[in-house]
Amino acid sequence: MAAKIIDGKAIAQEIRQKIKEETAELKEKHGVVPGLVTILVGENPASVSYVKAKQRTAGDLGFYSVQENLPEDVSEEELLKLIDKYNKDEKIHGILVQLPLPKHIDERKILYAIDPRKDVDGFHPVNVGKMVIGEPCFLPCTPHGILVLLEKAGCEVSGAEVVVIGRSNIVGKPVANLLLQKRKPVGNATVTVCHTGTRDLVFHTKRADILIVAVGKPKVVTGDMVKEGVVVIDVGVNRIGTTPEGKAILCGDVDFDSVKEKASAITPVPGGVGPMTITMLMKNTLEAAKLWAGLPNEVS
Ligand code: NAP
Repeated sequence: MAAKIIDGKAIAQEIRQKIKEETAELKEKHGVVPGLVTILVGENPASVSYVKAKQRTAGDLGFYSVQENLPEDVSEEELLKLIDKYNKDEKIHGILVQLPLPKHIDERKILYAIDPRKDVDGFHPVNVGKMVIGEPCFLPCTPHGILVLLEKAGCEVSGAEVVVIGRSNIVGKPVANLLLQKRKPVGNATVTVCHTGTRDLVFHTKRADILIVAVGKPKVVTGDMVKEGVVVIDVGVNRIGTTPEGKAILCGDVDFDSVKEKASAITPVPGGVGPMTITMLMKNTLEAAKLWAGLPNEVS
């Protein structure tokens, strides 16, 4: 069986168009322009390219956007001051601090300092707690994007055996949590989470109807590890080289060529989960702007 390719780029484009239209309407009817600040510390090449993409998308959608570039050796105190400034800035509705941060900065302190009503990444414990008990909140962008991909791909999630490999706070844990909730249109699955302590990884991957891989290592899941008809969401972004033009060569955590022969549907890398992550960040920023304007929204 040759898998259907889940085109994250096209799905993201469709959602961005809706966000753009809503943004124009919000401006016209209420004089509100969604505002996003992205804060980058240092010059990690992956972080630089992610922040650039987020800024470019915000601009394309008609948002007000600000980019803050801080040196690698910025103090924790300076960064906290900047967050405080944007917590109070009425033109800014969403604050994103690009992770990872340098080792001398306590990531937890930084994430806790962001006003939960501007936490468009969905990493503040207030939003994480609300997500776990199923209340409206800012959902973390990558897991939220995965839910939308499964929905748009027409995948039957309710009752499915979902196996997630990886238990990070930004992907594995939240996506597992969202999928097990009695949540419509995507949820109500039976979820297993695997990690480095899992005794027999293949036992679990082989029984998955839906396999979500967020490991951060190239091609750890191969065709012989999955069953016929599985739906595979590959979250991994691994830089495995550079082109002669200096562009990064990327691959996922899944061996696309062997797995696509058995899967019924699969996300490519690039062009799968990545564009959805940025799109859901924009969606959260739009909802944050509505929240601040006292308008009906999806996060409160
Ligand atoms: P992470 O924090 O490094 O977590 C990796 C997880 O995978 C850990 O839970 C680890 O287990 C588990 N793991 C590692 N090797 C394993 C193995 N051989 N078998 C089973 N489990 C294993 O990673 P992350 O932040 O979730 O990111 C994962 C990948 O997704 C990375 O490539 C990242 O770049 C990518 N990503 C992409 C997007 C996007 O928008 N496309 C967004 C976020 C992340 P332990 O907990 O036991 O160590």
